Amino acid sequence: MGQDVANKNGFNQSVPQWIQSLSRVKLLEVISSPDGPLARQVIEQADLIRSETMGAEVHLRGLVEFSNYCRNNCLYCGLRRDNRQISRYRMSPAEIIQAAEHGAQLGYKTVVLQSGEDPAFSGEIMAEIIREIKKLGLVVTLSMGEREPQEYQLWRDAGAERYLMRHETADEALYDRLHPGQTLAKRIFLLKTLKSLNYQVGTGFMVGLPGQTAETLLADLDLARQLEAEMVGIGPFIPHPSTPLGKDPGGTLEQTCIMVALIRIFLPYALIPATTALGSISTLGRESALRAGANVVMPNLTPRIHRADYQIYPGKICLGEEAAECRGCITRRITDIGRTVSDGPGHHPKWSPGS
Ligand code: SF4
Repeated sequence: MGQDVANKNGFNQSVPQWIQSLSRVKLLEVISSPDGPLARQVIEQADLIRSETMGAEVHLRGLVEFSNYCRNNCLYCGLRRDNRQISRYRMSPAEIIQAAEHGAQLGYKTVVLQSGEDPAFSGEIMAEIIREIKKLGLVVTLSMGEREPQEYQLWRDAGAERYLMRHETADEALYDRLHPGQTLAKRIFLLKTLKSLNYQVGTGFMVGLPGQTAETLLADLDLARQLEAEMVGIGPFIPHPSTPLGKDPGGTLEQTCIMVALIRIFLPYALIPATTALGSISTLGRESALRAGANVVMPNLTPRIHRADYQIYPGKICLGEEAAECRGCITRRITDIGRTVSDGPGHHPKWSPGS
């Protein structure tokens, strides 16, 4: 990473020169002082860039958390293999398709199928679920972690258009410590594999992880830019009491929002969610992110009986609401800040499905 990291992105004319030429030192200063005057200016500019590149629309993605089984043991995660304090569930293919159907009836255009890394959902079982959901006219986003490249190919062939898999931290030593048995190199290889299969690829990271520095966060931004990620999810680290990091301090709203703003500047056309994690640490957290460059929200479509068991972090909001209530609530929140809910598929503007 050298100086003027941000201006390699081919900004449109509206991005002021001072933002394009922010030096590495200045970027580190902004990250380290997320409630300082320069950070406020950066957030204002990110909001303007979002308005120029992506408009006022906010894209809604209906989230179906279909299995909380996971073979991994990530130190921060409530779904980790060694957590015996949650009750595990798997939705059946019919239940997953039904949840997607419900989403389509509520007006969602995209369904996100998310789970821990659960090998019980084989390549072929998932391909069949995807094919059924495609018949409903929905865009399918998958978020199922690390799988074989052939499975990613199978699911792309079945019609899935997007894949979310955060890199979580670009610091290799920290990655190793947080993810026993996994490597950052493999994660990056798989993200590139997904790109080569013409998925719209989402990466992202947590803010406020123990051992993370401003340098690490700058490396996170740079990695997302190098990957040319179509989507970047950034949420605060929230310590889960049933994990080894349960007693560590979490990330803050201000730290997270400045990273949202900077990723909008690094990747002006990205789809950037205002994460539920941010809404969980601050009542108006999602609105703050939407004002800092974000343009996506992911309301919950998971059947209510399972929601409390899908807690990667504690204190997650919207556990008791029906899917229809979530849809109504989020629409109000978006219109209250002068934005509109998109009724299109919400693809990345530079992505095309290919043949
Ligand atoms: S973060 Fe993902 S891969 Fe890691 S334990 Fe949690 S669900 Fe599994």
